[in-house]
Amino acid sequence: MIKIHHKKSDCIGCTACTEFCPTYWYMDEEGLASLYTVEEENDRFQYGSGFEDDLAALKKAEKCCPVKIIRIEK
Ligand code: SF4
Repeated sequence: MIKIHHKKSDCIGCTACTEFCPTYWYMDEEGLASLYTVEEENDRFQYGSGFEDDLAALKKAEKCCPVKIIRIEK
C-alpha cells in the first residue's frame, strides 16, 4: 500500500486534490480538504493509504498541491 500524509491544518482549499483524486479527498464543511479514510490523525496531519493502481493520480495531487502539504510514499 501507498502511504498518504496530508497536513490538513495548512490546506488553503484550492480543491485540486479532490479533482485529481475524488475517491481519496473531499472538501469538508470548513472548506478544507480531508481524507475519506483516515487511519491516523493528530491536530495537524491526517494519514491514510492508497492503492498501487492510484499511484499516478496520488502523485499528481502531491505535485499540484500549491502549498505542498501532500506527501505520497511508496
Ligand atoms: S491541493 Fe492542497 S491546498 Fe488544495 S485542497 Fe488539496 S490539500 Fe488543500
